[in-house]
Amino acid sequence: MPDLIATLKEYWGYESFLPLQQQAMESVLAHQDSVVVLPTGGGKSLCFQAPAMTLEGCAVVVSPLISLMKDQVDSLSECGVTAARIDSSMALDERRDTYTAFRSGELKLLYVSPERLVSESFIETLQAYPPAFIAIDEAHCISMWGHDFRPEYRELGNLKKRFPGIGIHAYTATATPEVREDIARQLHLEEPEILVGSFDRPNLRYKVERAKEREQQVVEILDRHREESGIIYCIRRDDVDQMHARLSARGYSTLPYHAGMEDQERKDHQEAFIQEEALTIVATVAFGMGIDKSNVRYVIHAGMPKSLEHYQQESGRAGRDGLEAECTLIYSGGDYQVWRYLVENNMEGEACERSLQKLSAMWNYCNSIICRHRALVNYFGQELEQENCQACDVCLGEVDCVDDALVVGQKVLSCVLRLQERFGADYTANVLIGSEEQRLLQNGHDTLSTYGILSEHTKTIVRNWIEQLVAQGCLVKTTQYNVLQVTTKGRKLLRKEYTPQLLKPVKHGPPRLRSRAAKESWEGVDEGLFGVLRDLRRKQARQRRVPAYVVFSDAALRDMARKAPTTPEAFLDVHGVGKVKQRKFGQIFMDAIQAYTMANDSGQGAQ
Ligand code: ADP
Repeated sequence: MPDLIATLKEYWGYESFLPLQQQAMESVLAHQDSVVVLPTGGGKSLCFQAPAMTLEGCAVVVSPLISLMKDQVDSLSECGVTAARIDSSMALDERRDTYTAFRSGELKLLYVSPERLVSESFIETLQAYPPAFIAIDEAHCISMWGHDFRPEYRELGNLKKRFPGIGIHAYTATATPEVREDIARQLHLEEPEILVGSFDRPNLRYKVERAKEREQQVVEILDRHREESGIIYCIRRDDVDQMHARLSARGYSTLPYHAGMEDQERKDHQEAFIQEEALTIVATVAFGMGIDKSNVRYVIHAGMPKSLEHYQQESGRAGRDGLEAECTLIYSGGDYQVWRYLVENNMEGEACERSLQKLSAMWNYCNSIICRHRALVNYFGQELEQENCQACDVCLGEVDCVDDALVVGQKVLSCVLRLQERFGADYTANVLIGSEEQRLLQNGHDTLSTYGILSEHTKTIVRNWIEQLVAQGCLVKTTQYNVLQVTTKGRKLLRKEYTPQLLKPVKHGPPRLRSRAAKESWEGVDEGLFGVLRDLRRKQARQRRVPAYVVFSDAALRDMARKAPTTPEAFLDVHGVGKVKQRKFGQIFMDAIQAYTMANDSGQGAQ
């Protein structure tokens, strides 16, 4: 086996593999087909890029979007890897040059769209110049079970027949087993090695907040991330426009993005975000695919997404570089109603049923008080090893629970029983707070012993507690009217054999503790120097017309600000600096480091 670590170090400046990367690379080198499932930020690209450097010939990579191809080719070129793409946006002579480079054996990686790869003329070229292997990025696009099905991916099913003996490798972040198996089947892979990583993203700090004043909640997060990139997701186009307008009015510079905008304007906004001319984008779910930006430091959901699959995908756009990033979800009962309405009015039969189940899992996630990392990986069928993730509101002790949750829980559940399990959450809350609503009085429910036993609380709070008891499995909503019933677990609660956790009314404020990932990645970093290097990176990126993170990732920049190297050898020792980047950028960045150090030393001396 060639020395993959030496390759990693030379071109990418990395010293070790991320989980499963080594196995994934070895199956490429062994010419064995594979399906590799790793979460966003898991380092899938390197699984095929590094082996391509050590094998004879050129690897062909299929990618669904021009923006993704461009991003990867730019990144590779900055590292000194000869890579190119062929796509329809290129001029004819540019394409001709690329073909010439390919035929002459200059290229190590060639990126193409699925349509091009299966076109007869391209297949003929490849038959004359066989590729080292074929890598299929975003491979879930081949599966109708996935969320991004693309018919043009289906044609890739013929590749195995057309290129017998050439390894085919599929990469995706989509977690479900059906999709994984479907990929292997559709591509006719032969005894593929299937590698599935952990879906946990330990560097993401999850937080769930009930909506109180959404805009204010969003602003508090933005204030913590000045100078950093982030995405704010809203449910509908109107929400995007409103949020963008309100934030702009308060002096926050953001750009909107949704499917109702002109194509060109949307593209411009996406490009501005990638190039860091705009740091914050306010968007619907339409924004995301094709965004490979590695230094997104926060993702805010200003409304609840419609499924945990969507939540995982969208929040997963934060922190691809492995550094800490903040993912906050703001939700309300109204969000749930909006989605329910949309699903029920746009879907039918089984599909509708399935979507409602997903919606309800999402709602339960918001209302439950278990570790967010655990809840997410459990949903995708995996376990979380550690007891305390140290990276979510629950584990960091940011959620305030009521002290007498057992008693409150008993009061709620006995009220449901007194109502003979025939009413919904809203009605039950009214009884509990002692409302004088007409229907309640007509039904004579003001005579129940549980009438008004939570009258010291507002209806919203009691209503939320009911949802939390549903999420914790003490109550279920049944029938189309969402009638509440007490479960076996609920009966345990009534017998004091189970204590639920119930949240106190919302209090906002900055996070109390830095997550473990944040502590580690900032350890020993001179934050002032980091700011200086970040500005320099932005300038360099503009000059070279590439995104800033292509010049250096945030992780590389922080390590640079930690080590403050002043010699070429020391510069090469920075995480994420390979030989080519050292040659290209070493001097410029070291000059800045020296200037900063001198200015600061003399500043200290003068004090
Ligand atoms: P994915 O495609 O799985 O979302 P990427 O391939 O974009 O992930 O990689 C995510 C980030 O991790 C990139 O910044 C990449 O350079 C970095 N990375 C990949 N492999 C390693 C490694 N072995 N050590 C350190 N960083 C790595």
